[in-house]
Amino acid sequence: MILHDHFNVNEKGHLTIGGMDAVELAKEFGTPTYIIDENVIRANCRAYRNAAIKYFGADALPLYASKALCFTGIYKIAAEEGMGIDCVSGGELYTAKRAGFPAERIYFHGNNKTDRDICDAMDIGVGTFVVDNFDELCAVSAEAQRRGITQRILLRITPGIDPHTHKAISTGSVDSKFGTAIETGQAMEIVKKAIAAEGIDLAGLHCHVGSQIFDIEPFSDAADIMVRFIADIKRECVYEIRELNLGGGLGVRYTEYDREIDYAASIRDIAAVVTGFCKKNGIRMPRVILEPGRSLVAAAGATLYTVGSVKTIPDFRTYVSIDGGMPDNPRYALYQSQYTALIANKASEPKSKRVTVAGRCCESGDLIGENMELQAAERGDILAVLVTGAYNYSMASNYNRIPRPPVILVKDGEARVAVRRETYEDLTRNDVL
Ligand SMILES: *Cc1c(COP(=O)(O)O)cnc(C)c1O
Repeated sequence: MILHDHFNVNEKGHLTIGGMDAVELAKEFGTPTYIIDENVIRANCRAYRNAAIKYFGADALPLYASKALCFTGIYKIAAEEGMGIDCVSGGELYTAKRAGFPAERIYFHGNNKTDRDICDAMDIGVGTFVVDNFDELCAVSAEAQRRGITQRILLRITPGIDPHTHKAISTGSVDSKFGTAIETGQAMEIVKKAIAAEGIDLAGLHCHVGSQIFDIEPFSDAADIMVRFIADIKRECVYEIRELNLGGGLGVRYTEYDREIDYAASIRDIAAVVTGFCKKNGIRMPRVILEPGRSLVAAAGATLYTVGSVKTIPDFRTYVSIDGGMPDNPRYALYQSQYTALIANKASEPKSKRVTVAGRCCESGDLIGENMELQAAERGDILAVLVTGAYNYSMASNYNRIPRPPVILVKDGEARVAVRRETYEDLTRNDVL
């Protein structure tokens, strides 16, 4: 087992993903290629859903934050597993609709929904809008009135938790492009406007405190603040908030330095603190929603590359260059995100080197990682980067006119193309002149 149960080494000394030989997969589908173990995603969905129903009650609905990994097939999987989804753009909505995802289970997020987004979402009958600010509330209300419908909404609230330290703070986090802050008084104002607005059914509140979180304290701190705010609304507006969405953000094990998280136990603990806060504040327990992205899909993925040049600069470092890089995984360039890499065809050999894994773009920041432990690499080896299921394909670009890799779903010994490899024709398809 390497990091997660579905990454192993077979008798040939090759990495296996969901039981399938990574070297064979690279041969069959070419490189670079995203491999996604479908059973892992399904198992994670079930773990979240079963725990949510067990600890929050029968009407609990975990949402998949689909920005983490978005293509038609993933929405089919989410639908089959009884999940709701969180979408943030017209493109995600379009893809979900194409997959036949039930619209009433879609939550439509984003801090700036365009007029077209609002119309598109209402056209397909999106169940819930998560409204970010006053301006958007007016736009959603106006369009709902024009259509003679009542649109169910949540309001995105900024509870005042620092997204970096995850601590409750009294100033600073007010300054966010997301949501409306409690401490400026604007959150209470927008609640009042939403209650009064025509064409709007204010069902509840939403907050999202951050990402790659390894304990429940930030959720607990946020829930404490949100439940007190719900009690304030009850008192001041004589209005019952029926739903509380605590966002996503539970962490994932990317390297051996990260802990493994028991998602069911985290949900149990979050449920216990929310129940306690509701009792203390004398309010009825709202329907609690969680919307994980990363923790559902990250571990399911690995990216396979072919090693090209290996270059050692004496007294400095060794660069192992691969046939992908920041266009398929921009996360090291963006956030210095840490990954685990190995040579898939030498997986049973010791990691005797420390290297920089570099991409092929004209950009010195185009790296997958520095100081990465790796087996001795040579041209033609298959290099695997593990735990790339989240925020890799969905953040991929065509920088340097590099076609995006395919997404291959593996399940029970079978591999299927879920998204085909882009071609050079795909790259020029929209070039008119
Ligand atoms: C990104 C995001 C999520 C998912 O976050 P993860 O860290 O991937 O679990 C959930 N809700 C909102 C509003 C988000 O922006």
